[in-house]
Amino acid sequence: MFVLSANGDMISIDHDDADSVINLENAADDTEFRCSACGTPVYDTPGGYVDECGEWACEDSEPVGDPDVDDAAAEVVRGPHRPQRVPLAWVNGAAIRTEPEQDSVTVSISVGDPRGAFTFSVRRVPDDAPANAGRLVMHVPHLDEPLQHAPLIPAHPGTYWVG
Ligand SMILES: [Zn+2]
Repeated sequence: MFVLSANGDMISIDHDDADSVINLENAADDTEFRCSACGTPVYDTPGGYVDECGEWACEDSEPVGDPDVDDAAAEVVRGPHRPQRVPLAWVNGAAIRTEPEQDSVTVSISVGDPRGAFTFSVRRVPDDAPANAGRLVMHVPHLDEPLQHAPLIPAHPGTYWVG
């Protein structure tokens, strides 16, 4: 039996088809940061983080200023938005491809150029191959790939920093 799932949901595929591809698009908006106080999207600018209106002051922040100077008539001065990275804003999408002709399964994860992705695959060597017949072989991204999806920096065996 062959089972695929996406975020815990089972996905059925037709094994009579030659190839099956499941694509998971990132449905989140393009916002990389949100304010942790008011929740509005904020954007990194040379002058700091601002909302869609170009405002850096956050309505939900604590007022700032010198309490000895402030009085009822003084304008309330708000603190800045507090930028927080939006979870999964870094991923463009992910895909699983099963290829019966190649006897392989490939997982792709795109984090940089949306036209590409890191790919991880496992396939079985054909039974009539001169060597390693019937064995499984795994391919993973590595430092010597000619067209890397994104630069990799080794952290320790099996782990890379991306970019
Ligand atoms: Zn805010």
